[in-house]
Amino acid sequence: MGNTKRNDKYRRRMRGRKLNKLLAATLVACLSWTAAARAGACPRAGVLGTSRVLPVDAATTPRVGLKHFPQTLPLGDHEVVLTFDDGPSPASTQKALAALAAQCVQATFFLVGKAAQEHPALVRRIAAGGHTIGHHTWSHRDLAQIPPDQVSQEIDRGIEAVEAALHGVTTDVPSTPFFRFPYFESRPATLDLLQSRGIVVFGADLWASDWRLMTPRRELQLVADRLKAAGRGIILFHDPRAQTAAMLPAFLRYLRDNHYRVVHVVPAEPAAHVEAVPEGPKSSAELEH
Ligand SMILES: [Zn+2]
Repeated sequence: MGNTKRNDKYRRRMRGRKLNKLLAATLVACLSWTAAARAGACPRAGVLGTSRVLPVDAATTPRVGLKHFPQTLPLGDHEVVLTFDDGPSPASTQKALAALAAQCVQATFFLVGKAAQEHPALVRRIAAGGHTIGHHTWSHRDLAQIPPDQVSQEIDRGIEAVEAALHGVTTDVPSTPFFRFPYFESRPATLDLLQSRGIVVFGADLWASDWRLMTPRRELQLVADRLKAAGRGIILFHDPRAQTAAMLPAFLRYLRDNHYRVVHVVPAEPAAHVEAVPEGPKSSAELEH
């Protein structure tokens, strides 16, 4: 065998070894990616992901959501905040949590105290997923229709139940001072009371109307059309609704494929002062529920 031939053979062997090394490295990378994906490690490639974290402060934004208030969160074009009301509800809340985890996104859950007391482990599971937990009263009564002393009771008992589930402590001081009125029904005095307590009142900018019975496909179409029209906003869903839990994976993929970005709202540091009370809520006549 001549020198040239020997050199060619050597080069081929070395090239083969390099290729094998590359294949092995790729295989290791693939395996670790698969393991990470299976374990739900975030962030990871190809999923929607949470784009940014937005601290919300009662001093500067005491009430947000254009359906009911003149102002909303400072969101950019194609930015959305995902919110879920009325849970926790074992089967469908867990389904919603799985869908959010699969896309590495954080949402905000406004919990009903009574349901939180019944399912404390599920409350902790929501928190463990990195989601924000807000408050939605004790038993979901219409706070505009009951006497003022009962209004305070409904709010405080709801907060206490959620705090007890989360931290094992009974307190009416919420660890996350975010609140949403059942049916968005409020009185000016209650809004003022919440503001004086440093609690942000969340309305919504758009919703899926998921209190109405419809197929997941129809709900997806409806919320996607509304989002396209609005371009951004706080979106309201109800996680106890099976149709919403069923629709959620497709909706999150829709957000990813259409370049929407998920913003995760969290409480700001305690404020030093409270600003003037803004205008009251709009008429509820335009509400669909
Ligand atoms: Zn509700």
